[in-house]
Amino acid sequence: MHWTDTHCHLNHPDLYAEWQAVLFRAQQSGVHRFILIGYDLESSQRAVELAEGSDLLYAAVGIHPHDASRCSGDTLHHLRELAQHPCVVAIGEIGLDFYRDLSPRTVQHEAFHAQLQLAAELGLPVVIHCRDAYDELLEVLRDYPSVRGVLHCFSGTAEQAQRGLELGYHLGIGGVVTFKSAETLRSIVRTMPHDRLLLETDAPYLAPHPYRGKRNEPAYLPLIAQQVAALWQVSLDALAEQTERNVETLFRLQPLRKVPPTG
Ligand SMILES: [Zn+2]
Ligand SMILES: [Zn+2]
Repeated sequence: MHWTDTHCHLNHPDLYAEWQAVLFRAQQSGVHRFILIGYDLESSQRAVELAEGSDLLYAAVGIHPHDASRCSGDTLHHLRELAQHPCVVAIGEIGLDFYRDLSPRTVQHEAFHAQLQLAAELGLPVVIHCRDAYDELLEVLRDYPSVRGVLHCFSGTAEQAQRGLELGYHLGIGGVVTFKSAETLRSIVRTMPHDRLLLETDAPYLAPHPYRGKRNEPAYLPLIAQQVAALWQVSLDALAEQTERNVETLFRLQPLRKVPPTG
């Protein structure tokens, strides 16, 4: 049995300094494949550098809504070049964040549209970050019917989840599903189509219970998987098989034939 962490930031300063040790611990706990997600130009570049030449690491490149004010024409030009690297499997994370509002909302919209356009042109899926903006965001996605992707760390209502699924999107489920307060999310997961769920840690953020508040690592992904398997009332083996197929479908990855030895 093996897992893919579909959203982690080994390219983030909190993990980058010891990324090999972090990877080793993840492999020890059965997590063998990783999609490293960029959030600005520098972290996107670093994701590509890490993933380059590896069968187990992949990259997504994009400008996070927090950084939308820095998403200039020049940045988009660099992003387009980076996105054509063979290890890049998605554009992201991109989206709208009206919770922290670190960039003005009109600027967030512009950066989001420009990057959706890029994804449509290159035929790549998108990794979407959204906070307190699902209604606006789903309206935008409706304008890009050829683009598919994942609503990472989904935190909307059941009705918003339904609309996202109808648009063909996957839901990224992470540590939050293990939190005591996350009843709404658990009920969404319980009834959602099994072929639309992706497991993710968002490390170094959002560590699952019992590590809540600590630095997160891909090694904790199985704690999230256990919660989802319990909600679906399926075995961990069946969940792994289903979620690996989901990853391979959305990001067009080859199935992992043989799990490489660790250590
Ligand atoms: Zn995010
Ligand atoms: Zn993230």
